[in-house]
Amino acid sequence: MDLVPSFESFRCTRCGATVREALAQRCPGCGGILETRYGDREQRWLSEWTDEQSLWAFRGLLLIRPATCAITLGEGRTPLVTTPDLAEALNIGSLWLKIESVNPTGSSSGNALHAQAAYAARAGLRSIALVPENVPTSRLVQPIVCGARVVRVRGDYSDCHRFALELAQKTGWYNTATTYENPICVEGYKTISYEVWGQLDDVADWLVLPVGAGPLLGAVGRGFEDLFRQRCTDGIPALLSVQSTECAPVARAFERGDDAVTPWKGEVHTTARGIADPLRGYAEDGAYTLRWAKRTGGAVVSMEEDAILGALSELGHTCHLYVDPAAAAAVAGIRAAVRGELIPEEATVVCIITGTGFKEVPVGISVVELDEVFAPHTDAIAHLLRKEGGNVGWKDREATRRARNCASRYRDTACRIRSCQASGRHHLRIRPGPA
Ligand SMILES: [Zn+2]
Repeated sequence: MDLVPSFESFRCTRCGATVREALAQRCPGCGGILETRYGDREQRWLSEWTDEQSLWAFRGLLLIRPATCAITLGEGRTPLVTTPDLAEALNIGSLWLKIESVNPTGSSSGNALHAQAAYAARAGLRSIALVPENVPTSRLVQPIVCGARVVRVRGDYSDCHRFALELAQKTGWYNTATTYENPICVEGYKTISYEVWGQLDDVADWLVLPVGAGPLLGAVGRGFEDLFRQRCTDGIPALLSVQSTECAPVARAFERGDDAVTPWKGEVHTTARGIADPLRGYAEDGAYTLRWAKRTGGAVVSMEEDAILGALSELGHTCHLYVDPAAAAAVAGIRAAVRGELIPEEATVVCIITGTGFKEVPVGISVVELDEVFAPHTDAIAHLLRKEGGNVGWKDREATRRARNCASRYRDTACRIRSCQASGRHHLRIRPGPA
């Protein structure tokens, strides 16, 4: 089985060198971040979009492709769901959630541990996962079950990052850290942009996502740039990145108006672990993310823990989704950006729900509180509902109507490309979703 990808080349974002080594992680000359390089592939771009029910539907668009086999667990093709109630609560015209948490490993970003464990196992490779010492046991169950050797390392994410680099250099193992250390991973993230465009049949005004080092943001930006270059769109969305105030090196640089990012000092305490990256030793990655945010006319903000947990709860109440705190941070960021008049009220906004909450229940915080134990009598439940001012009737017609309305707004991901002869623009035709 040949796992070495076929590809054209990388370009160093710092010195401009062309790098042809397929598994290069940084520029061998200057250590700069590598980007995939575009060649004549652009001409064949649209014709290579397939119907596969996985990320590999976009294999023709990806500049790095497996030579002989594609490892898949059925990832990608995630739903884009409109949420009128949450849009109203956030005071914006239209809000769509790209629910990446339905991916086979429960996320698209911020949880590389789980993806690495599952996909390495699928490929028949051994994997070693280096995790910060304070990662809760609940988060380690999935990778251990999937066969990864989990090693807890003293320190935080940056300490693990440095150790992974050192191990990879000394052993020749491939480092799958989801920073820009991994240009192949970044290439995969771009498919989120293609899917969003295909499902929305348009470009949103703003796209919002949580970021640590930010390869998801850089990749989504590049994905939309692909679409723009291929004349599929008239522009690209402004990208709003959201961090936790407990670890916000990129947001602080944005606030200061700096181009350079300073690594975060001190200990990191946030429930949004998926984006808790101090960037010590690789602040250049944060600066690259910052450049992308600015290039799209976007911004980087940071949210307090209370706002993040409030959004987590709000997503449950209004959208019936249980997400991880990093994903909730993005929603909190939308509210702050609307209040700060950064996102106009009439804007169409897409928010990437990067991870499910099932992997790690927040501990030591009051997201939910349990009350007394009740006797198994219907009277007890009726009494409880009356006491709390709820609907005592067993059938709630308004809820049924809302559910039906919600279902009709679900957009299936199956789509077809259609080219408009008059304008020369390409469109995707989207098969109607279930009513
Ligand atoms: Zn270089």
